[in-house]
Order: sequence, then C-alpha cells, then structure tokens
Amino acid sequence: RKVSSLALNEIVGNDEQKQAMKDLQNEFEVTTDKLRTIVNQFIAEMKKGLEHNGATVAMIPSYVTGRPTGMETGTYLAIDLGGTNLRVCQVSLNGNGEVSIQQQKYRVPEPLKVGEMRALCDFISDCIDSFLTEMGTDPMEQVLQLGFTFSFPVNLTAINRGNLMQWTKGFACAGAIGKDPALMLQDSLRRKNLKVRVAAIVNDTVGTLMAHAYRDRSTFMGIIFGTGTNAAYYERMDRIPKWEGGQTKGDEMVINMEWGAFDDERRVLPVTVHDNKLDRESINPRFHIYEKLISGMYLGEIVRNVALSLIDRFLLFNGFSSAEFNKQWSFETAYMSTIEIDASSDLDETKRVLESILGITKTTLADRQMVKTICHLVGVRAARLSAAGVAAVMSHCDLLQKDCCTAAVDGSVVEFYPNFSETMTKALKELFGEDVDKKIKFAPSRDGSGLGAAVIAMQVSKGM
Ligand code: BGC
Ligand code: MG
Repeated sequence: RKVSSLALNEIVGNDEQKQAMKDLQNEFEVTTDKLRTIVNQFIAEMKKGLEHNGATVAMIPSYVTGRPTGMETGTYLAIDLGGTNLRVCQVSLNGNGEVSIQQQKYRVPEPLKVGEMRALCDFISDCIDSFLTEMGTDPMEQVLQLGFTFSFPVNLTAINRGNLMQWTKGFACAGAIGKDPALMLQDSLRRKNLKVRVAAIVNDTVGTLMAHAYRDRSTFMGIIFGTGTNAAYYERMDRIPKWEGGQTKGDEMVINMEWGAFDDERRVLPVTVHDNKLDRESINPRFHIYEKLISGMYLGEIVRNVALSLIDRFLLFNGFSSAEFNKQWSFETAYMSTIEIDASSDLDETKRVLESILGITKTTLADRQMVKTICHLVGVRAARLSAAGVAAVMSHCDLLQKDCCTAAVDGSVVEFYPNFSETMTKALKELFGEDVDKKIKFAPSRDGSGLGAAVIAMQVSKGM
C-alpha cells in the first residue's frame, strides 16, 4: 500500500490544466520554513493553554497522574464513543502487561448524533445492558466500574466529572454543551437499573496513551489521527500553572491538548479558499481548523471542493459534475487512499471511483491524473501539518535531549492512509535532523482507548 506518485510534468492535460495544478501545488505546499513557523506558534499556544483557562489549545488536565506498571489486575468495563461506532468492552488486566478484551461494536444511528443528549445516553446504556447480557455478567451482583472514553473536548473538574465544551466530528446533540457527560450517562444507567458506576471520563488520546503505557513504560504520548485528531502527553505538574486541583500523587499529569483547535485565530496555518468553504459548511464553523486540515472526516471533502472549483473553470470533467459528486461529504477520505495507490497506467481504480461510485459520466486520463494530484497534495499537507503538532510537543518537552520515547498512535488516517507516518517522519527529519526517528517511535495502538479507559478505571478504584 504505497503511494504511487505522479510528477506534474506527467500530466497529459492542456497548458491551462497544467498551470492550475502548479498553482494548487503552491497553495498546498508546506515548506520546511513554513513548518518551523507553525511549530513555534504551536509551542507558544501550548504554553498559553497551560497557563490559563479559555486558551485556543485548551491543554486540559486529565486527572490521570500515575504511569501504570503493567502489574495491575482486575476486570473493568469500558466504552468508547466518538467516532463511527460505539464500542463496549470488558477488559481483564492480568498483570505482566497482559490483557484480555471482549468487545462489541454498535453503530450509532445518525439521528442520535444530532438528537437529544438524553437519548444518546439511553442508547449507550441499552448497548451496555445487552453487552452484559451477552457476556453473562450480572450487573445486579456487584457494581461494575466503567471507564468512559468520550472523544470530545471536556473540561474536567474531577476524574469522572466535567463539562462538554464543544461538539466536534459531526456530533451535535442538544442539551449537552456545558453539561457533564459522565453524570448524564450515570443518570441514564440509573434509570435502567444498571449497577454500573462511571469511574472515569477519558479522552481517546489519554486512553490510547494509557493502553500503550500498560505494556510499554517508554510511552509518552497518545495521538489520534482518525475521524478527528488530537494528542495527549505527560506534563510536569510544575509546568501547569493553571492547575488548581491541589496536591497530586505524582509529579506529572497527562494533558489532553485538544490540538484540533490550534490556530483558530488563523495566524499561521495555510488555509485555502477550499478549506474555508469546508469550514463554513461544517457544523462548527470557525472551530477546529487544524483538525479540519488533517483528519479523516474532512480530507475527502477538501479534495471535492478543489475538484468542484476546477469543474467550474472547465478544467475538469469537461465542466460537468454529477448529482452524487455535488453532495457534501460524497468524496470519502477512503477514496483518496485508493487513488493515491493506483499505479495502473490508465488509473483504472481512479476511474472506478469517479465514474462507478461518484457517477461522473466520462473521465479522461488527464482528469484522473489531476484528481490523483489533488489527493496527493491534500494528503501530504495533512501529514506535514500533523508532524508540526508532534514536533511542538517534542520541543516543548525537550524530547530530543532524552532517550527514545514512544508515541502510541491510532485512528483511520494513520492506519489506512498510505505513507501517512512516513510523510510525517520525513517532515520531522527536516525539522530535527535525520536521527529524529531514534528519538520518537510511532507505535500503532489499534482501538487502544477502550483498554486505556479500563486501566484508568482500575487506577481510580485503587486510589490512583
Ligand atoms: C476531539 C478530541 C478527540 C479527537 C480524536 C476531536 O474532534 O475534540 O477530543 O480526541 O477528535 O477523536
Ligand atoms: Mg477511536
């Protein structure tokens, strides 16, 4: 699954089409210098977030202080809400970093994502109920401890208390912003007579970090490049001036960065007209611009916007779109992966996506080459901008001075987008030199956040 890239001079189109591609290349390019500017701004924003509440990059203390030893044991429940599916898991920690997980996925019906929060919570409770029945676990026997992975920005006031700041990624339930998702779920569990206690509310990045840390003590960061994007890392308590939660057990705490909001003031990110169009039409305009340039929910839509602009200039598909291609979100990010790896001389796979799936009547080789080029530009920009966030954390934490550390990564983009981590690593090398890959390792941690939430529930019940 390697990218098969195309040089601009291979495009067989006319001069105008070639010029349009050159212009796009300039627009989407993130030079090393530009990357440096972005990284510096990122570091400054991280500091602001650690200093005071209300900063753009929220830098939320997670109340998770300890590092797991891997020797902990016990059985815990975990759920994971925030992407396409709701996952319910029963996690047995067996010590020695060993775990066994039984889990079930439930598709969240689209109307529930934009309905009443209460209905969403009832759906979650029902899923937990049927999961427990299937597992033969009787929730009436003893109180089960639940780690609730809720992958949205929540300002925590305790390990299992907090307020939802914003919805992201296409969720927009009513009656939730400013409220406590853990409490709302707890109420629903009570209404259904389930003896389940929400022991912790956990961001997926924090969960991913903890899941990997249970097996590998060098784990320092958890990063999601999926439907949305975000990162968490261990910060020293004395570097979190805004912390008012009093004495903690350890001298470090995991920070949920909420980096998707980076540069919502639009100071340094290379935001194009195509990105602005996407932003305006999204459910959260002016919010999470960094996430919108990087994550799986949005990349395909950016490609579609660029393509539409070329169609309107009669430079693509002979000036014709299709009913399907005119629909918002119709060009899925997964198609980009297919097109990026299409190595056939006629670009047959690209043709299949455009004609059979998206209903474009007829494409020429030049059309397909142009679409392939657009996918590549948008994909490379996403990976390079992603590297900027990683680089900022590395600089802020002086990681280049330290031994090798591990960043646990998860999400559909890093898992399925061809060459994504390679492109990120290349950008990091431009910033920090060739040896940077000896300083940071990206460790895939598939669906780790459920396990991580269980590890945290365990830490809570053992008095962290
Ligand atoms: C949310 C984060 C989450 C990330 C990845 C973002 O939209 O704000 O809380 O960690 O998506 O799922
Ligand atoms: Mg996930």
